[in-house]
Amino acid sequence: MVDKILVVEDSKTWANALASYLTRELGHVCDVAYSYAQAKELVTEGAGDYFVALLDLNLPDAPRGEIVDLMLLKSVPSIIVTGNYEEETRARMATKQIVDYVVKQNPEDVKLIKRLVNRVYNNRCIKVLVVTAASAFRRVLKRQLGNQRLQVFEAGSGEEALNILDLNPDIRLIYTDARLPDMDGFDLTQAVRRTHGLDTLAMIFFYEEMERDLFPKLLKSGANDFLPRDFTREEFLCRLNMNLDMLELIESAKESANRDYLTGMNNRRSLYAKSEEFFTRARESGSGLVAAVLDIDHFKRVNDTYGHDIGDVVIKALSTFVRKYVGPTGLTARIGGEEFCVLLLGLTRPEAEVFFEGLRRGIEELRLEEVDIRFTVSIGVTVIHRNSLDAMISAADQKLYEAKGGGRNRVCLEA
Ligand code: GH3
Ligand code: MG
Ligand code: MG
Repeated sequence: MVDKILVVEDSKTWANALASYLTRELGHVCDVAYSYAQAKELVTEGAGDYFVALLDLNLPDAPRGEIVDLMLLKSVPSIIVTGNYEEETRARMATKQIVDYVVKQNPEDVKLIKRLVNRVYNNRCIKVLVVTAASAFRRVLKRQLGNQRLQVFEAGSGEEALNILDLNPDIRLIYTDARLPDMDGFDLTQAVRRTHGLDTLAMIFFYEEMERDLFPKLLKSGANDFLPRDFTREEFLCRLNMNLDMLELIESAKESANRDYLTGMNNRRSLYAKSEEFFTRARESGSGLVAAVLDIDHFKRVNDTYGHDIGDVVIKALSTFVRKYVGPTGLTARIGGEEFCVLLLGLTRPEAEVFFEGLRRGIEELRLEEVDIRFTVSIGVTVIHRNSLDAMISAADQKLYEAKGGGRNRVCLEA
């Protein structure tokens, strides 16, 4: 498993502090080497274990940055962490394929290190497409992006680019010339934006000085950023990281908007969005949908007797159990305080009865690690397909009401 960090640094205090900070913040195991010799031993045994190395250039047994070459040899991506980065060192390191460097001046710099480490880690699953007819320029870009551990695809024309995007719809970044042999940047942007919104893919344009007048039109059609064709490595990296960070921020905002905070389950909003696929599949396969609403019995008593925190523990345990029981083919969501919804495809009435009776019994028999509480649920189910989720839930709700009235801890089915 390639998910460890290697810290090479002769100051033991700083090395250990940095290692424990990164483990705490990012959850990765950090190995520490205080010398070139120790680092060599670690990477000789398991270079494949490290997704990144943080390197001090000035080690007692390797004072001129020899450690960087060792890591390059072992293909471990490297970030240089140094007290000073003078011109001579900077020039020497510029020719090497490192991820980046951090000049540590104050304690806050560990945050930058954390961000860079996290970028390298995430980059390994990110696909980038480079579009330019200039093959030498493509090679430069491929190397720069490869150094950041991104997966790089190359295209020499707009049409080729669109074909590659079609085959790899999970491409997150496109670097492109503003003018291509077969189309201009404006046409390419429009074509890309038909399938990929600003929230999932960023487009970055290279430009020559006289092309600046293209910016407004490109921005309006969906470009994100611009880089001069004679970019510096530093600017290239900063803008790359900024664009990737931005996409991840959008992704996590979307994720939290669709998740229930307490249980990590789908929330009501996400249930409605994801149910569309279930309705489509129900229509295409001709098999109807089954909807169930499940509510904990006398949950107020749990809160009153054990307190709200234990109530939360019960809700979380129930959520875990329901998700596991239903499995990946069904859709589950928390739709209220202690109310959950389950959506399934293609069950007959007797099958649904067995399925939900099994769920009810499983919950009755559930034992929690944290506290000795038993609890039960009532479940209302409809096996009559209707064309809206609201209608399905409302039918299941009516059955839930019946189950409660009938004494609780039971399943009631419609039809
Ligand atoms: P019934 O069997 O009729 O469902 O009885 P009940 O006591 O469960 O009644 P009801 O469903 O009306 O009560 C739900 C209770 O759930 C009320 C509320 O205080 C509690 N609740 C709602 N959300 C949460 C939560 O996030 N955490 C905890 N601990 N309690 C919650
Ligand atoms: Mg209840
Ligand atoms: Mg309730």
